[in-house]
Amino acid sequence: MPASIVIGTQWGDEGKGKATDLLADHMDFVVRYQGGNNAGHTIIAEGHELKLHLVPSGILYPHLTSVIADGVVVDPRVLLEEMDGLAAVGIDPSRLRVSGNCHMIMPYHLEIERVTERFLGKNALGTTKRGIGPAYGDKAARIGLRIQDLFDEKIFREKLEVVLKEKNQVLTRVYGRLPLTVDLIEDDYLRYAERLRPHVADTARLLHDGLHAGKNVLLEGAQGTMLDLDKGTYPFVTSSNPVAGYALASAGIGPREVDRVIGVTKAYVTRVGAGPFPTEDLGAGGELLGERGHEFGTTTGRKRRCGWFDAVILRYAARVNGLTELFLTKLDVLSGFERVRVCTSYRADGEVFEDVPPHQSLFHRAEPVYEELEGWDEELVDARAFGDLPAAARTYVERLQELGGVPISVVSVGPAREQSLAVA
Ligand code: GDP
Repeated sequence: MPASIVIGTQWGDEGKGKATDLLADHMDFVVRYQGGNNAGHTIIAEGHELKLHLVPSGILYPHLTSVIADGVVVDPRVLLEEMDGLAAVGIDPSRLRVSGNCHMIMPYHLEIERVTERFLGKNALGTTKRGIGPAYGDKAARIGLRIQDLFDEKIFREKLEVVLKEKNQVLTRVYGRLPLTVDLIEDDYLRYAERLRPHVADTARLLHDGLHAGKNVLLEGAQGTMLDLDKGTYPFVTSSNPVAGYALASAGIGPREVDRVIGVTKAYVTRVGAGPFPTEDLGAGGELLGERGHEFGTTTGRKRRCGWFDAVILRYAARVNGLTELFLTKLDVLSGFERVRVCTSYRADGEVFEDVPPHQSLFHRAEPVYEELEGWDEELVDARAFGDLPAAARTYVERLQELGGVPISVVSVGPAREQSLAVA
């Protein structure tokens, strides 16, 4: 009855969608446990390239039940749009289950996020402006509206009236915007409710019963460890907790159900938006990584910042998530570099850090200490076994494994399934 967790070890965009794809055959449930429609998995299936921002990528497999667990914030309009999009390409979304405990993103969350980001000017966080942060804020403040509220119209209206009164004060008096009206929001949301009703379930019970009937559950994290609200580079983080521990809180299962915690790590590092990134390469190297790796955001289209592999954050991710294995993705992108760099530690204020420095100011000042390895010219995309890789690429993989202290089980050399090499 094992559950597995897939989690990004960097700042997101590690290729978690592909890891899920590889594991899906053996799974019965795929669960999203945090974030909102800011995720952006890209999956290639049946000749379609699909971009999913909210719906778990498991939806592509008819044998699976896809679950959106309590810890996700759901914009019901977006959820329904994604389900329609899937149906339009012949993928049946009827097996999607959504927890009634999920908090909803409301129109005022979007509006407030837009105006506060504008107000912050150059200090803006560069959020995706989908209302996700404000929805989590209201959840913590105990004024959030949950999906289950939709199914009691009286309660829904009452809660909406109370919260909108306060939101409208903020919108009109602080930001000089027009107020939103209860009736319009109510109309829209009650319409969504009818369409959502067949998908809403007690997902914690569903997963528990599944596990105890011998089913396999995959919990898929969005974003990555370094974007975790608590364990990441605060405040340049996401508004939820991608780390493995939160998967359990959100799904409502105990830690003893989990036997694999798979870290997805890219063969180099990228980051979207502001915040510390010690191994960023602002020169030709970073530019080339971005071009070869097509490093543009799935959700935002934003160009990602690129740099060299950072073993310090890998060790950190291994520790805070309790990783049992690694999937190394996008090794093919590194072909053509004469030398490849790997950051083994940081230097800050004359001190050497083998681990992520405990204070943010030190992390901001951290200079990477690099080890240089021999590069390789050969393209790797046609490799079908680890032994097909040139010696220098194998040495690189082995070195990352050594530095990270976690076994690498799969090396990926392209987006397709067959471009996945098992490491003995
Ligand atoms: P995710 O959110 O972690 O799934 O990351 P992305 O959506 O940014 O996915 C990474 C992108 O890289 C997708 O377009 C994948 O198809 C692609 N991809 C995944 N693995 C590999 C790989 O090994 N090599 C290359 N070249 N592309 C890959």
